[in-house]
Amino acid sequence: MEAMQNLSDISEVFLARGQAKPGYMWAESNSDSSPAENAKLPEMPDSSCTAKDFSSIHSKDLLPHPDGEKMTRNFLQELLGILLAYVGKTFDRSSKVLDFHHPHQLKEGLEGFSLELPDQPENLEQILVDCRDTLKYGVKTGHPRFFNQLSSGLDVIGLAGEWLTSTANTNMFTFEISPVFILMEEIVLRKMQEKVGWAAEEGDGIFCPGGSMSNLYSLLLARYDRYPEVKTGGMAELPRLALFTSEHSHYSIRKAAAVLGIGTKNVFVVKCDERGKMIPDELESCIIRAKTLGCVPFYVNATAGTTVYGAFDPLHNIADICAKHNLWMHVDAAWGGGLLMSKRHRGKLQGIERASSVTWNPHKMMGVPLQCAALLVRKKGLLQECNQLKAEYLFQPDKQYDVSYDTGDKSIQCGRHVDIFKLWLMWKAKGSEGFSMQVNRCLENAEYLFNCLSKRADFELVCNSKPEHSNVCFWYIPPSLRGVSPGPERDKRLHEVAPKIKAKMMEEGMVMIGYQPLKDKVNFFRCVFSNPATRKEDVDFLLDEITRLGCGL
Ligand SMILES: *Cc1c(COP(=O)(O)O)cnc(C)c1O
Repeated sequence: MEAMQNLSDISEVFLARGQAKPGYMWAESNSDSSPAENAKLPEMPDSSCTAKDFSSIHSKDLLPHPDGEKMTRNFLQELLGILLAYVGKTFDRSSKVLDFHHPHQLKEGLEGFSLELPDQPENLEQILVDCRDTLKYGVKTGHPRFFNQLSSGLDVIGLAGEWLTSTANTNMFTFEISPVFILMEEIVLRKMQEKVGWAAEEGDGIFCPGGSMSNLYSLLLARYDRYPEVKTGGMAELPRLALFTSEHSHYSIRKAAAVLGIGTKNVFVVKCDERGKMIPDELESCIIRAKTLGCVPFYVNATAGTTVYGAFDPLHNIADICAKHNLWMHVDAAWGGGLLMSKRHRGKLQGIERASSVTWNPHKMMGVPLQCAALLVRKKGLLQECNQLKAEYLFQPDKQYDVSYDTGDKSIQCGRHVDIFKLWLMWKAKGSEGFSMQVNRCLENAEYLFNCLSKRADFELVCNSKPEHSNVCFWYIPPSLRGVSPGPERDKRLHEVAPKIKAKMMEEGMVMIGYQPLKDKVNFFRCVFSNPATRKEDVDFLLDEITRLGCGL
């Protein structure tokens, strides 16, 4: 009852707000009015429900100022208005994905918006203008026509979770200061381990700042598991180690090898087939070659959902080879892990249950707001053993509760951001079913794009088989190149097409998609779907835009 009342209070505030918009609110129409026009607040009638004049108010007037409570509410409500206007625009197809400016333009300062920091405090009206403009000149990654990155979308429940998390402003190192979040992390990790297929008595894990960090953890654990003396003695005590990853795998594996003192030279890069899947026989030859070079193989990274092609390595075959040579098998499912939520698609990760560790980024395919990434480890207790240093000021063993819930010493960080709540809240709000539908929908969009492209003469697919994940890679072939026969000259010209189209696309701002070269393939577009707001009409729009921007090239 009380909760209902509070909710209706809030909506009344916004109904009232709709009648008169202060300057830092977005203009109603699509033509974004200039910041100069919007920079100053119009005079507002003073009522408890409408906007205040913030031009003479400063941050010192807010809490903890003894009379600051009302002003704090007013300020945050104004800010919420700005955020809600942005949320609305994010889902509005007629609004731009981005309003592009060059670095020097932003640094020189746009009217009413300067990045320079003052010595004297600025008033809260300026602060609200700054908040609005920060969003205005950013990129709407939740826009249904943002196809640029693997993480996209703006999940409303996830957003609520992020707001709450910032409000709670606590740290994941101990149960002492994060009792609820620590338990949520345990529950969610368990749920993810179930999806991977691990039995109840196995499995551990931790949320960390991104998939690259998860991959680094996996290498750290694999090395410690084999050579626990590395923790005290360092690499000097170890033989020359070798690890294996495919040529399509994420660069963070090689980076982790550099960070951990293993060296990128000792990362053996295994060949892939034309779809981007690791070739198991090639893996085995690499292992044998490493041994003949005097290295000690200890770790294989298999990728479930490669970053560019969306390919799934054959996990069972790789697991067999790892078992035979006694190697740690890591599965980098940063991108593909989300498919475990879908009955229809989870079969593509068959064999993942045999992994020693798994990277899974819910901030990618599951649409959780950045950042939300998990490392799952099959062997219980290893994370703790490998990383704990028992800092006495944090992890006192004589607390009154079960101190095994002080999970912070599993981490290589000290403080750790609360990334769990938004995922937990989304899982509650959607159920596993909801995530399943969301993933299915993204893959349907990819299939739709693939089908469109395979029918058209002005586009060429990089890979002619149906996509397994939501990545679809393709070239646009402008009219001037259509009759040209394959060869270095055509490649040279084709290489320039995607960057030129992308540049125009950024200037116009109505859609965004990424491009890259890969191995012997010249620059091609990569479309990825992870935003459940995207529909077929957006896919059509993307192809129309590419054609419109590129037909003169
Ligand atoms: C995105 C990605 C990563 C890196 O994840 P971050 O969260 O960006 O650090 C690792 N592996 C694969 C396969 C990825 O697609």
